[in-house]
Amino acid sequence: MKRVRALTAEPPLLATYRASNPSEEKRPATEAKSVWDGFRSDQAAYGQVLEKLAKAQQGLCLYCEQLLVDQSGTLVSGDYQIEHVMAKSGATGRVLDWTNLALACTGGTYPHHKDTSRFLHGQNNSCGQSKGDADLPSGTDPRTIPLVGLLVDVGLDGKLAANSQNCAACEWRVKIGTTTSTTGWCRS
Ligand SMILES: [Zn+2]
Repeated sequence: MKRVRALTAEPPLLATYRASNPSEEKRPATEAKSVWDGFRSDQAAYGQVLEKLAKAQQGLCLYCEQLLVDQSGTLVSGDYQIEHVMAKSGATGRVLDWTNLALACTGGTYPHHKDTSRFLHGQNNSCGQSKGDADLPSGTDPRTIPLVGLLVDVGLDGKLAANSQNCAACEWRVKIGTTTSTTGWCRS
């Protein structure tokens, strides 16, 4: 699993927007889309949030870890969105809460991406698209899952072996198949 980091500070232009529009984040949750659309109309502030998220997350989608930037670090047009980890319509105050913002793909299958293998017609339904207006189950925010060392070592002969030291460090047990053709898996 790749590390997807959260922002460590509020993007300055988002803070400026909130200060200039103090009533926006107090609007009821039923008006979340309107609040978000209002913020997005501030292109400089919206762009800065995207830029900060792309940098913090190293261009990776929060959920599927697909790379959403090109080699220069520029977001691939149409293949990204700002995700509200806790649904913006779920409670007042979530829309402009910078700790609730993350970068995600638009389903991982956008039609005009250079890598055409990522486009499956009619199946643009992963990540934020699939999550919709639901909240993540408690404890599943990828940004909060602790980093651990490799739990499985792959030998030069293809055999899998549990890395007992790393498994012990994170208190996970690893069960491995006995032949090279089987797959190892971890479970808590
Ligand atoms: Zn994704």
